[in-house]
This record gives sequence, C-alpha cells and structure tokens, in this order.
Amino acid sequence: MAPLAPTPRFLSLAGELGLEFDSGDLDQLGRFLGLLLASNKRVNLTAVREPEAAWETLIFDALTLIAVLSDLPPGARVIDVGTGGGLPGVPLAITMPHLDFTLLDATGKKIAFVEHAIAEIGLRNAHALRHRAEVIGASGKLGHRAAYDAVVSRAVGRIAVLAELTVPLAKVGGLVLMVKGQRADAELSEAQGALRQLHAAHVGTVTTPTGRIVILEKRRPTPGKLPRTAAEIKKNPLR
Ligand code: SAH
Repeated sequence: MAPLAPTPRFLSLAGELGLEFDSGDLDQLGRFLGLLLASNKRVNLTAVREPEAAWETLIFDALTLIAVLSDLPPGARVIDVGTGGGLPGVPLAITMPHLDFTLLDATGKKIAFVEHAIAEIGLRNAHALRHRAEVIGASGKLGHRAAYDAVVSRAVGRIAVLAELTVPLAKVGGLVLMVKGQRADAELSEAQGALRQLHAAHVGTVTTPTGRIVILEKRRPTPGKLPRTAAEIKKNPLR
C-alpha cells in the first residue's frame, strides 16, 4: 500500500500549531491513512472516505493532543479508550515515539485492523488491546486500573459517561484528555456530578482549529465501586 501524501492544507494547519515532523513521520502517517482507507471499504472504521479530509480531520485532529501530552516524561504510559481504527492513538504513537501507547477497543474487527497497522508501520511503542474500558478499569488485577499517566479518547461518548470509562484508568495526578467538538461546554456542565464522584477535576479546555480538548486531572483514587457495568453506566449515568 503506497503512503498517501499529506495535503497542503494539513501541512499549513500543522505549521500553525508549531508541529514539526521527523522525515519518517509523514511517511508513516501516510501509510497509516492508506491502510485505514483501504480497510474501511470492508470494515467500518471511519466515516471519512477521502484522503484530503482524512489528513485534515483525522490526522490533524489527533495531533492537536501533542501540545497537551508534551510534558510527559519518556516511557510514560498513555491509553486510547475506544480507539476504533486507531484514532487518536496511532498518529500520536508515530509522532511521540518516547511514549508507550495502549490502543483499546471492545470490537475485535477494529483491534484486528489496529494490530495489522501497527505491524505494517513497524511501530514499537503501540500495543492493541481488545477489551472493555469499564472491565479493565474495575479490576486492579488486570494491570490497567490507575496504571496510565494519560488517558485519551475521541468520539466515544458524552463526558458524563466517558469519564466513568476513562478516569479509573489514570494514575492519581494523571490526565484525561477528551477530543470534543462544540458541545464540550454543555457536556461538561452535565458531567459535574460524575467528575465529583470520580475524584476528577476539569483543569482546562483547549480550543484547536478542529474542536476542543477537555482536560481532566485525577485528584484521588477512584472509589472501589466505580466503574460500574456497561449496562449500569448507560442506563444511569453518574450525576
Ligand atoms: N476514536 C475513534 C473511534 C470512535 S467510535 C475515532 O475517533 O475515530 C467509538 C469506538 O469506541 C468504537 O470503536 C467502540 O467499539 C469503542 N467503544 C465504545 N465503548 C467502549 C468501551 N466501553 N470499551 C472499549 N471500547 C469502547
């Protein structure tokens, strides 16, 4: 699969954000997009079908997280909850090789694609995991609860629900970053009770050219009764 060349608009958006790429980064990002759009004809991985739109929305949107992740030390662990076809986790793993990424999704077909992409691109700092966030977040024995320096997530659910899936995976003092659109503020006000019960604080919202990044910080350990089962989370979001 030939890598897809970056569009001029992608390069100018990236320039505005001050992003600099190593020579191999753009090639690896282009190879990932080539694989994603080709597999998307068989498995539903993204609604975006055109290469131009894919560079400007999918890749660029993922890379807006770099600014917020840039203070993490080498070897820090990051988990992408609901990675789907590998977003934002794969572009971040390509451009931040000093960090260790776990790419989590509940759907086997999506994780099979992410594993394939990781192997094809030759990424050594990314690991695909098929599991449910609320299951690995509930048990300390599985090695994921309170194990991550940062949790990232894009297009998985509204904040009140997503917080219960993500905050338990962060270490105390760790960050939870949600890539959101214009609904960020409304979702945040609805999630105040959930954040209180999860011992997480809203510490900032960054406006980017493609949306908003909501930044939470985990202040204290997650209460033992959280997260609940998927059915309970859906039926009765924390308030
Ligand atoms: N982040 C990707 C995919 C968004 S679609 C992107 O931006 O394109 C949402 C994904 O979250 C789906 O692939 C779904 O399987 C996954 N998902 C939803 N709930 C989940 C859960 N509780 N645990 C793990 N994955 C979940």
